[in-house]
Amino acid sequence: MSKRDYYEVLGVDKNVTPEDLKKAYRKLALKYHPDRNPGDKEAEEKFKEAAEAYDVLSNPDKKARYDKFGHAGLDGAGGYGGQGMSMDDIFSSFGSIFGDLFGGGGFSFGGFGDSRSHGGARATSRGSNLRIKVKLTLEEIDKGVEKKIKVNKYVPCKTCGGTGARNNSYETCSHCHGTGVITELRRSLFGQMQTQSACPYCGGQGKIIKDKCPDCHGDGIVKSEEIITINIPAGVSDGMQLSMRGQGNAAPHGGIPGDLIIQVEEIPSEIFERQENNLFYNAFITFSEAAMGGAIEIPTLNGRVRVKIEQGTPSGKVIRLKGKGLPDLNGYSRGDLLVSINVWVPKSLTKEEKAILEDLGKKPNFQPNPSKQERGFFDKMKDLFN
Ligand SMILES: [Zn+2]
Ligand SMILES: [Zn+2]
Repeated sequence: MSKRDYYEVLGVDKNVTPEDLKKAYRKLALKYHPDRNPGDKEAEEKFKEAAEAYDVLSNPDKKARYDKFGHAGLDGAGGYGGQGMSMDDIFSSFGSIFGDLFGGGGFSFGGFGDSRSHGGARATSRGSNLRIKVKLTLEEIDKGVEKKIKVNKYVPCKTCGGTGARNNSYETCSHCHGTGVITELRRSLFGQMQTQSACPYCGGQGKIIKDKCPDCHGDGIVKSEEIITINIPAGVSDGMQLSMRGQGNAAPHGGIPGDLIIQVEEIPSEIFERQENNLFYNAFITFSEAAMGGAIEIPTLNGRVRVKIEQGTPSGKVIRLKGKGLPDLNGYSRGDLLVSINVWVPKSLTKEEKAILEDLGKKPNFQPNPSKQERGFFDKMKDLFN
C-alpha cells in the first residue's frame, strides 16, 4: 500500500508554521480519536496516519529528510516504515497536545516531542537524537579514522545546572500535590476506567519552577557549538549509521540525552571502484607488454605494488591481488584488489608505425588462433541474455 503524502494528510503546505501544523494535527486527532469513534478501524487508521505525519513534520530533522527524499528518506531513521506508529507511540509522544481536549491530560505520559515514559507514570524527558554526516575517503575507510566534528547541539545550561530554575527555586505542583501523577476516571469502551498518568502541569516532576533561569528560560538546556571526537572504525561503507549513545542533544530539566547518529558518506574514488570489500582497478598496458610480458606498477590504498604481466596476456584478463582490498568491519578478513588488464590499441598511427604493423600482421604468430576456452566466450554471452 502506498503511503499518502504527509502534507496532504494534514492539509498543510511546506511553509506551515509550527503553530498551524499543531492546529491541523489537533483538529484531525480530535475528529478521529478512538474515544469518539469506538470500534471504527478506518478512524483508527486516520488517527495513526495523522500522528505519523505530525511526528515527521514537527521534527525539523525528519521534515528536512522527508522534503528531500520523501518517505524513503525516513526508513530506518526515525520513520515508521510500513507499520506506522502504534497507539502507545502516539499517546506517549503527543498525549500532551490533545490531553487538554480530553479532560485534562488523560493520555499524557510526559512532555512534548521526545519525552518518553520509563516505567510508571512519572516522566523522564529524553533529548532528541543528533544526526551528522561524515565524508570519508577510501584511504580513511581502509585504516579507520578519528574525526573531530563541530556540531551545534543542546547542552545542559551551566547557569542553573540544567534544572531550568533560578537559584533552585521550586514550588510543589498544586495539581498533583507533588506526586507527579494524576489519577482519574475515564469513560472507555469497557466502562469506567481508572488511569494514572504523568501530571501535565509539572511534566511528572511534582514540582514547578518558581523563578525561571534567565539564560535558558526554564528549559535547562541551551544551544552550543561543540567539537565531538568520533572514532570511525575501518571497513565502514556508504550509508552506514554509527550511533554514539548519549552524545546527542541534552534533555530539558536534566533528563536522558539523545544519541549522536553518524551517517557515513563515502567519497567516490577516482582510482578504484568499490564493491563490498573488493576494489577494482583498470590497468592499461601496451601491446608489446601484453605480447612479451613484463611488469607494471599498480596503485593500492597502501602505496604502489609491482605486478607481473605474463607473456601472451590477453585483454580482459583479471589479476587478483589477495588482501589488497578493504578490511571487513569485524576486522577478521580483507577484500581483494582486482586488476582488469586492458591492452591499449593506438587511436592513430604514423606512416612508419603503419609499415611495421602491416609487416607484423602478416606473420604466422599474429593470426588469430583462439583456444577452445577463448572461443567459449559466446556461450557465456548467450547465458547472459537468456
Ligand atoms: Zn538555565
Ligand atoms: Zn503536577
